[in-house]
Amino acid sequence: MFNQPSRSVHNRVLRNFAARKPACNIAPNKESLRHSRSVIFPLMRIDNLRITKAHALISPAQLAQQSPLTASVLQSIAVHRKSLEAIMDGEDQRLAIIMGPCSIHDPKAALDYAGKLYRLSQTVSDKLFIIMRVYFEKPRTVVGWKGLINDPHLDGSCKINEGLSIARKLLIDINSIGLPTGTEFLDTILGQYYADLITWGAIGARTAESQVHRELASGLSMPVGIKNRTDGNVQVAVEACQASREKHLFPSLTKQGVVSILETSGNPYAHLVLRGGSESGSNYDAESLAKSTALLEAAELPPRIMLDCSHANSGKCAKKQIEIAMNILRQNNPSVFALMLESNLMGGRQNDKTRPLEYGQSITDECLGWKESEELIRQVHTYLGDPG
Ligand code: PEP
Ligand code: MN
Repeated sequence: MFNQPSRSVHNRVLRNFAARKPACNIAPNKESLRHSRSVIFPLMRIDNLRITKAHALISPAQLAQQSPLTASVLQSIAVHRKSLEAIMDGEDQRLAIIMGPCSIHDPKAALDYAGKLYRLSQTVSDKLFIIMRVYFEKPRTVVGWKGLINDPHLDGSCKINEGLSIARKLLIDINSIGLPTGTEFLDTILGQYYADLITWGAIGARTAESQVHRELASGLSMPVGIKNRTDGNVQVAVEACQASREKHLFPSLTKQGVVSILETSGNPYAHLVLRGGSESGSNYDAESLAKSTALLEAAELPPRIMLDCSHANSGKCAKKQIEIAMNILRQNNPSVFALMLESNLMGGRQNDKTRPLEYGQSITDECLGWKESEELIRQVHTYLGDPG
């Protein structure tokens, strides 16, 4: 039980209360102020003090009605997911590659990139299974633009309903070309609006330790990669893989937008993604891979690892991804089933808010440009055909 407030605290609260504007449209009058505290305290507004407004959110089903999944897109996503699972199971010998912009801010440029990537992917599909990174939700170390869903106009207006609609349409367009899509699930509810269009999902470095993200991963319908923590701790991600493979019950949203307790079956394709760390440095070398494989084995998890060539592995220097990818291939480590690359139409990144945005260039992490990306994929393909 909580203690009753002392007499002096009680008097101070009464004075403050009398001086303030009424809460909940209940005006304090002299008579009520004369009442005992058992009458007065219920009149005080103590909840949602820092919620300034609530905006209506469209339901996942309403959004899907506006941008429905066609039968052919649905079928191709099911096939893409099966292909990725077969690669993870060792039944398909191809290398999976998740590549694309760090974040999507311009759907037109993203679709332009997708067209190029699809054409390239078709020429290397005997050795490589290419999935486009289509990231709409960005975790920030402190603050910043949180991605296209949160703020589609990039101006702080945060039109989330509009962001969801743009994101869903873009995913349908990319999948309609025939290109599978991958994304990070950051918000634990928003996935319900577009997860049907995703072939590979990520839980990022900043949320790998979070219970609600592990619960979310346990219920997602596609393989989910969980990144090592930003400082480089891999054990936390291994534990996240274990937790995501288990059943969970947790509060969330149904497609109809009803707050519900969801019961999951566990995700047998939850796997580790190594992205380097601020304390550990890069972790794509043979020794780091051996350590991570040992941690997976100790946790009785299959040794399946995706290597992120960007982020702390590249020191955020996009061009370093080229040598990192080739270094990983030369190691020929059977645990590595996939690579991740950050790539865009134009290389580098931009953050000069006083100038108009350059078309096809990242506004978050630095990326390889298209020409370098294409050359790298051809180099990887040639290497896998003839390691020499
Ligand atoms: C990303 O993939 O762009 C990203 C933010 O990754 P990480 O969680 O590894 O920092
Ligand atoms: Mn990034």
